[in-house]
Amino acid sequence: MNFNDYDFIASEAFAEGLDEADDLNFSGRFHKIPGVIYMDGNSLGLMPKDAEDALLSAVEDYKRLGIDGWMGAKTPWFYYPESLGARMAGIVGGYDDEVAIAGSTTVNIHNMLATFYKPSGKRAKILMDELNFPSDIYAAQGHVRLHGLSEDHLVLVKSRDGSTLLEEDIISAFTEEVSVALLPAVLYRSGQLLDMERLTRKAHEKGVLIGFDCCHSAGSVPHRLHEWDVDFAVWCCYKYLNGGPGASSGLFVNRRHHGGIPGLPGWFSYNKDKQFDMSLEFEPAQNAGAWQIGTPNIFSMAPIEGSLKVFEEFGMDNVRRKSLHMTAYMMFLIDSLLAGEYGFSIATPREPERRGGHVGLAHPEEAVRINACLKKHGVVPDFRYPDIIRLAPVALYTTYHEIWKVVSAIKGIMDSKEYLLVDSKREVVA
Ligand SMILES: *Cc1c(COP(=O)(O)O)cnc(C)c1O
Repeated sequence: MNFNDYDFIASEAFAEGLDEADDLNFSGRFHKIPGVIYMDGNSLGLMPKDAEDALLSAVEDYKRLGIDGWMGAKTPWFYYPESLGARMAGIVGGYDDEVAIAGSTTVNIHNMLATFYKPSGKRAKILMDELNFPSDIYAAQGHVRLHGLSEDHLVLVKSRDGSTLLEEDIISAFTEEVSVALLPAVLYRSGQLLDMERLTRKAHEKGVLIGFDCCHSAGSVPHRLHEWDVDFAVWCCYKYLNGGPGASSGLFVNRRHHGGIPGLPGWFSYNKDKQFDMSLEFEPAQNAGAWQIGTPNIFSMAPIEGSLKVFEEFGMDNVRRKSLHMTAYMMFLIDSLLAGEYGFSIATPREPERRGGHVGLAHPEEAVRINACLKKHGVVPDFRYPDIIRLAPVALYTTYHEIWKVVSAIKGIMDSKEYLLVDSKREVVA
């Protein structure tokens, strides 16, 4: 199929035709949930069958080998953070030794800030933005406190419209007072994709180190972290990367920084050849593996190995082409079927180069209740306070017909006004 053809028609038959023409449909490689249209792959990706196999194989290794699994497992556990990192490097555009799989996103943010945030003299601030994910902000607040600095050392770039950021506003905040900037690649609510290459260049011109949180882009938008000269990056492996709930996370550290002492060292940050010498003198690994801390969580990593197999077959560039096509189709349907009268707007930028993999559908008053109704209709969307319903058609497993059904279901909910019958309290996990 030609994913560059954006001539859409709003009928169901057209949606079915798109699926028939789609020669890149991997939905059979996933455990789709019967009776459910899953639009939440940006929060927790569905399970690839290969991920299940890889996890069961790790369980088998444990049964069979006990401690010998560290060197004797099919993929030796001892080197898992590096070997999985090398396989993931292509997805984010790093060299094999610049990526490791370890820890969790928040822990990795702590490690990156502990490493790269070195307030000195006038250059003592962290730059973020007010739309950033709370956990990232809490982490940065913690580092400012640890250095005994006042809270105005965390600077948050403001949004002008409440859902997107202007690169200009970020660039003008790169001053000689900023030590390090930590920005989202894709904003978790609106799905805006920032121009990481330009931001990195501008940050460096002002002597600012820059890192990106790629939680909402990794596995959906290809990056070229090394070529752009990004200093560091972190990302979840349980969202678009389908590594399972609480899967270990990804981290990228530019080669330029290898050999430096990680901010949160542990025995797994050590030069692997000598780790078991148990010397008390710390000698960091000479690659991104130095930014892991302790024993790898093998069962939280094995599914990633299976998932990577699917990505390697599908191709990251194909993921992006198809994802853009699917989100464009979804926005076309929203424009066609939900225009005007219902009060919706699309919070996601329209330009392909400015959006990630999900569509943020905003409703000023009733987003919570419409979201709840969608669940009753067998759709799994997710809601982000205060007014955004996030819908993520995932290139690897969502079908065009499912996209059509979701937008049609929303139209049905609005026409019948059934959302008026639903409690407006939001769920604890939402
Ligand atoms: C999902 C997400 C996180 C989650 O961090 P965990 O440590 O895995 O809980 C952090 N930041 C962003 C931007 C996210 O999207």
